[in-house]
Amino acid sequence: MPYISLNPATNETLKTYMSWDRRHLAEALEQTYHAQPAWARLSFPRRAELMHRAASLLHERAAEYAILIAAEMGKPVREGRAEVEKCALACDYYAVHAEHFMQVERVQTGACKSYVSYEPLGVVLGVMPWNFPFFQVIRFAAPTLMAGNGCVLKHASNVPQCALALERLFQDAGFPPHLFSTLMIEPSEVGEAIASQHVHAVTLTGSERAGREIASHAGQHLKKCVMELGGSDAFIVLKDADLELAATFAVRSRFQNCGQSCIAAKRIIPVADIADEFGSLFIKKTKELKMGDPLDEATQIGPMARRDLRENLHQQVTDSIAQGAHAVLGCEPGEGAFYPPSILDDVTPGMRAYHEELFGPVAAVIRAADEEDAIRIANDTRFGLGSSIWSRDAEHAEELAHRIQAGCSFINGMVRSDPRLPFGGTKDSGFGRELSYHGIREFVNVKTVWVR
Ligand code: NAP
Repeated sequence: MPYISLNPATNETLKTYMSWDRRHLAEALEQTYHAQPAWARLSFPRRAELMHRAASLLHERAAEYAILIAAEMGKPVREGRAEVEKCALACDYYAVHAEHFMQVERVQTGACKSYVSYEPLGVVLGVMPWNFPFFQVIRFAAPTLMAGNGCVLKHASNVPQCALALERLFQDAGFPPHLFSTLMIEPSEVGEAIASQHVHAVTLTGSERAGREIASHAGQHLKKCVMELGGSDAFIVLKDADLELAATFAVRSRFQNCGQSCIAAKRIIPVADIADEFGSLFIKKTKELKMGDPLDEATQIGPMARRDLRENLHQQVTDSIAQGAHAVLGCEPGEGAFYPPSILDDVTPGMRAYHEELFGPVAAVIRAADEEDAIRIANDTRFGLGSSIWSRDAEHAEELAHRIQAGCSFINGMVRSDPRLPFGGTKDSGFGRELSYHGIREFVNVKTVWVR
């Protein structure tokens, strides 16, 4: 099957690429494998110089890349530029901190000398999604490269031009040829790539379905893997919350990137005392969002990335309504791949919107009787990616945060990734961490050295 770059706003086919055959894949993996050892021998300052150069190019090209992102997956250009700027931040962050994160650790044992050293694993395969087509890749590549590894990327099949632009970015920044390579392969070839003697580890950001498949290939071939999977984050609004502020951030968190974010506030959980008042504010602010052409600077909601995704989302919505949820805003598809910002209220157990991830611009409001009930609902999911709690008593909210089974909890703030903090999930949201010190340590050999 070819890789098709198709504009979801216009349905125009922009470019088509044939996917590679097995020989082409094997050659590409071998080239990265051979490029990696010399890279690992370079000093940290030299690696950092190139990573800073990649950051500078990202700044310079932010507007150009934002247009490419808009063309391939519909993200409004304002958000696209912010995504590319965040990539530059992550590159600079690892350029500055990698050496410190990878420093040897001396341990007193009675030997003359004993220590732990962090050494690259080799070549890491990244299987990445289309929703943040630049940031998801940089989030894996910047630490992985700075640790001394090579990277091969199997990007989502609807963003091939972004995938190739990323490969060019590293070339233009002066990285050694083939150290970072884009593989134009099908999902069915991923198992073969994992099995290759030229690949040492794999990381996936994507769905649970892909996670199960890729983790089982990794298990079969005893390769290290990290899984960043789906989420259905709880956004708990307690009775003493600043409702105006909470509603503003509920809208931002739920509808950013047309709702296609793993850490979006997918389950809005207000407690009964303030549910109606909060609900009115949430509806009012959601109605203010401007949907339209992603190339228009004023647009806040573009099309969804693909029509089939919009159809799946609408099926989840219609099934939930048939199961008793109330459509209080939107819930009717727009033209083509467009879906308006929508709200389902009175979502309860047994409905699809309660149990499944809604990967698009639809908020599920689940009313809780009280604080205790809100925590119970927050944990009543197979996902465990992020969560947020809104309350004027931040200390109390912080205590509650420790009772939520998720990879992160934000108090009076929306969940977002930050290169300085670890990112990842528990339960069916996956395992392993990206970003921060923890992210760079995922793809290293933790080596003990003991000298008499
Ligand atoms: P997806 O279908 O799993 O695709 C993600 C990547 O995996 C793509 O490159 C895809 O290739 C590939 N892939 C799919 N099935 C595969 C298989 N059986 N074997 C090998 N590779 C396979 O996910 P998506 O629908 O594009 O992305 C949305 C999901 O990703 C959501 O669940 C979202 O929450 C999650 N996500 C998680 C995070 C996080 O950090 N935890 C971040 C963003 C998104 P093709 O495109 O060629 O199918």
